[in-house]
Amino acid sequence: MDSKQWSEAADQVLMHTYGRFPVVLERGEGVYLYDLDGKKYLDFGAGIAVFALGYNNKEYNDALKMQIDKLLHTSNYFYNVPAIRACEKITQMTGLDRVFLTNSGTEAVEGAIKLARKSYYLKHGTADGEIIAMNHSFHGRSMGALSVTGTQKYREPFGTLSGIVFADYNNYEDVASKITEKTCAIIMETVQGEGGLYPASPEFLKKVRTLCDEKEILLILDEIQCGMGRTGTMMAYEQYGIEPDVVTLAKALGCGVPVGAFAAKEDVAKALVPGDHGSTYGGNPFAAAAICKVFELFEKYQVLENVRQVSAYLEEKLDMLAKKYQCVKERRGRGLMQGLEFDRPVKEIIKKSMNAGLITFSAGERIIRFVPPLVIKKEHIDEMMGILESVIAAEN
Ligand SMILES: *Cc1c(COP(=O)(O)O)cnc(C)c1O
Repeated sequence: MDSKQWSEAADQVLMHTYGRFPVVLERGEGVYLYDLDGKKYLDFGAGIAVFALGYNNKEYNDALKMQIDKLLHTSNYFYNVPAIRACEKITQMTGLDRVFLTNSGTEAVEGAIKLARKSYYLKHGTADGEIIAMNHSFHGRSMGALSVTGTQKYREPFGTLSGIVFADYNNYEDVASKITEKTCAIIMETVQGEGGLYPASPEFLKKVRTLCDEKEILLILDEIQCGMGRTGTMMAYEQYGIEPDVVTLAKALGCGVPVGAFAAKEDVAKALVPGDHGSTYGGNPFAAAAICKVFELFEKYQVLENVRQVSAYLEEKLDMLAKKYQCVKERRGRGLMQGLEFDRPVKEIIKKSMNAGLITFSAGERIIRFVPPLVIKKEHIDEMMGILESVIAAEN
C-alpha cells in the first residue's frame, strides 16, 4: 500500500482529532525524514520540538536496546538506577531539589497543578487555591492542563477546572491585578510556543518572580518546549537569572521516548506524600534510561554550543525574509525556537513547503514555527531557506 491508501485506511479507524497531512512517515535519519513512497523531507519540526538529537542516532538507539534487554519495566514500589540517575541529572539542570517522572508533558503539568493545589490545601485547609495562567498559553489537553491553557476555544466545550484566572503574558500589571487571597500559583511558559513564539520579557519574568516571593505564590514555569537546550541554555530561565519553584519538562527530555517530569524545590515538593500522586509507567527503567542517554549525548555533541551558533544564523536568515517579503511581518523567538509571522494564514505555505520537501509546523493561524533538531547545521538552514524562500516568493 502507498501513502494515499494508508491515509485512507487511517481515516476509517483514527479519531478525527487532527488535521493531518496525507503523508505516512516511515523512517528518519539525522535531520531528514522519509515517507512510505521514499520521498525525503528536511525536518524543521522535529516531531514538535522532540528529536533534539536527530533521527536514528545509533548511540541513543543502542542504549535503548540495551535497557530493553536488561529490564523494561518495574513499578514505582521499587527503585531503579536509571530513574535515580535521570532525576539527579534533572535536579542539577534545573537547580530544583526533587523530581517526579511522567509519561508526557501534559502529565507533568497535571502534577504541577496538583502540587500547587495541595500546598494551598495544607496552608488553608480548603482545596480552592486559584491559579493565574496566561492568555495564549499552551499546557496540554487533559482536564487540568487544558484548564490553564489560554485558548478559550480549546477549553470551552469541556467544563474545565474552576479557580483559574487568565492574564496577559508580558503584562505585569495585569498579572498583579489578578492576585487574590486565594492565589496559589502562577503558571507560564518561559517562551510561549504554540501561542506564537513569544519569549517572556526579562523585566516581566523578574517582576513576577519577586511578586511570587512577596505573596508566597508558586511560580511554575512550563519548559516542556523551550527547555532542554532549545534556546541555547539547558533551561530557558537561566537567561533571566531567576529560578521557578516548579518546572515542567518533556519533549526533548526523551528525544522520542514518551517521558516528562516536574521538579520542585524541597519545601514545595514535600506537600506531596505517599498516596497523593502516582504513575504506573512514569520513570520506568526504559524511559529513564532514555533521559540519561539524552543528557550524556547533549554533552558529548556539545549541543548547547551548536544551538548558540546556528540559531544566530537562523535568526539572520529569517530576518532577511521578513525584510525582503511584504507578506512576512516579523521574526520572533529564541534560539532554535523561532516563528515567522505572516499577514495571512500559513496553511498553504506549509503545505507547499511540505510538497517541496520541508517540514514545518504552524503556531496559530499566521505563524510558521521552526523547531529543528538541535544538532542542525548551517547547511541545513541554507537548504531550508532555499525551499521556503521559493514558496514565499511565489506567494508575494
Ligand atoms: C507540548 C507541550 C505540552 C504538552 O506536552 P505533551 O507531551 O504533548 O503532553 C505542554 N506545554 C507546552 C509548553 C508544550 O509545548
